[in-house]
Order: sequence, then structure tokens, then C-alpha cells
Amino acid sequence: MAAGKTCTRCKWWKPIEMFGLDAKRPDNRNPVCKPCCRSVNALSRARVIPISERSRQIRERIIRESRLPVLRQALANLKSRLEART
Ligand SMILES: [Zn+2]
Repeated sequence: MAAGKTCTRCKWWKPIEMFGLDAKRPDNRNPVCKPCCRSVNALSRARVIPISERSRQIRERIIRESRLPVLRQALANLKSRLEART
């Protein structure tokens, strides 16, 4: 049987060459296979910007939406005051 282990991410058994070297590990191999490592890195890189961008958009939307009823109420008050005058 060839040397290998199960990737902790994709749960697939893979030959040991499919795991990157990691001196900190008892078997000197990364617990996550190379393809998974790449996809994790790519994913975290891809996510960094959109998350901050998204949270900014969400924050702005919350602010906008929380103001909306207040603005509507103010507009309604103004309208009723104008109507009462005529
Ligand atoms: Zn994997």
C-alpha cells in the first residue's frame, strides 16, 4: 500500500505527495491536500475584499432603511400640516 492519508478538508484518501510539507506536523505533511490548500487560499483571498465591501453595503442599507420610516413620517407630517392649512 502506498503512503497516503485522508485530507481533513475533502475527506479523500490521497497519496502523501498530494500533501504539502509542514514541519510543524508530526508526519511533516499538511493535513489538507494541495488542491484543497489552493482552493482554500484562493477562496480566502477572494473573500477578503467582497466581505468588507458587502458589510459596507449592508451597513449603508441598514442606515438607509432605518432612516426611511423616519423620513416618511416627517413627509407625512408635513403633508398633513399643509393640508390642514388649506
Ligand atoms: Zn483535500
